[in-house]
Amino acid sequence: MANAKSYDLAVVGAGIVGMACALAAARRGKRVVVIDRDAQANGASVRNFGFVTVTGQARGEMWRRAHRTRDIWAEVAPQARIPLLHHGLVMAARRPESMAVLEAFINTEMGEGCRLLAAGEARRDHPHLAGDGLLGALWSPHELRVESRQAIPRLAAWLGEKHEVTFYWGAAALSVETGRVLTTRGLIEAAAVVVCPGDDLFTLFPEPIAAAGVTRCKLQMLRLADPGFRISGAVMSDLGLARYAGYAALPQAVPLVERLRDEQPEHLAHGIHLIVVQSRDGSLVVGDSHHYADTPDPFSHQAVDDLILDEFVQVFGQPAPPVVERWTGTYASAQDRLVLVTTPMNGVRLVMVTTGAGASTGFALGEEVVAGLMEEGRAT
Ligand SMILES: Cc1cc2nc3c(=O)[nH]c(=O)nc-3n(C[C@H](O)[C@H](O)[C@H](O)COP(=O)(O)OP(=O)(O)OC[C@H]3O[C@@H](n4cnc5c(N)ncnc54)[C@H](O)[C@@H]3O)c2cc1C
Repeated sequence: MANAKSYDLAVVGAGIVGMACALAAARRGKRVVVIDRDAQANGASVRNFGFVTVTGQARGEMWRRAHRTRDIWAEVAPQARIPLLHHGLVMAARRPESMAVLEAFINTEMGEGCRLLAAGEARRDHPHLAGDGLLGALWSPHELRVESRQAIPRLAAWLGEKHEVTFYWGAAALSVETGRVLTTRGLIEAAAVVVCPGDDLFTLFPEPIAAAGVTRCKLQMLRLADPGFRISGAVMSDLGLARYAGYAALPQAVPLVERLRDEQPEHLAHGIHLIVVQSRDGSLVVGDSHHYADTPDPFSHQAVDDLILDEFVQVFGQPAPPVVERWTGTYASAQDRLVLVTTPMNGVRLVMVTTGAGASTGFALGEEVVAGLMEEGRAT
């Protein structure tokens, strides 16, 4: 960058949250620049399941954001040549306590469009759920799945081509002030700035991040070879009912958690729940675990993978196919907040999704953040 360039909005961070803000601003006709320190997106947004989850998100704001975000994915994906690999979610239940949670859930507003399946129906509609003791399942039609490692670069390319968003890769943002971002590749001027640093807690605005109690969560992920069957949507199990706030906050979840503490204490200790999604080549992306620290260790532990695979065997009733890939990912996490959106200075926002649901809620959050900034701009 020989000379300072001027934009309406500068976004720091080319993960899904930063690109969601870029899209929202570009759709308002704004000139947008996105700055990322890496040569290509390499954070949580390319390491996740690509599972755009609606059913199970925390009741209220997050659930509404997930609906809106899913709609935006559905609209943008074909334009950006991002295949939607499968739709829907089946929550398989092996315990009466889990069925009680699902029955309570379907009677809330969050159950709209979902179906509660008895064991026979669940096996008929989802024959791959061949594990012992299946009591029933919840079918949700709302979810989408993309292959994130393909989708995120295609989204960036489409933002550039269709919306003339400028990307500066390999440019670390060193400091942000109202109207300007100092990067390792020079100064960028912009009327407004949004900082979407993912789980970088220490570089930009570390004080508000620390004050909000944000730490990092590490997840272990696996890719398994094609099992020889095709799943009809993402698959989750009883453990997910104890973790996803849309179910876990219901009073009916208390007895389930007590039972899981007795029967699967190691799974709970490592924050394990099962998510299984399928890729175009038939391989399965399977996870995950949750370990919290400001700097988590970077290693994948076999004992943790074994617990994830144990739950896979319980649900699918067949040995897990060979593991063909392992990786870890980290995201920003806070105990008592779903997102962190602050105004460290006029015309600047710091935005973090602190629940591990950025692919599912990011587009809606981006719209909210940009609307707030535009409102502020009009007021000043
Ligand atoms: C293994 C795993 C599985 C998950 N599964 C799902 C899922 O299926 N569905 C779902 O909804 N969510 C899922 N999540 C959570 C979701 O991936 C995250 O919430 C989301 O990706 C966060 O997006 P982000 O843009 O905030 O962060 P990131 O994707 O981490 O992007 C942040 C970007 O900011 C850049 N950056 C940071 N600081 C600077 C700086 N100073 N200068 C320049 N660039 C900077 C980084 O280089 C990075 O590219 C999962 C997360 C993980 C790790």
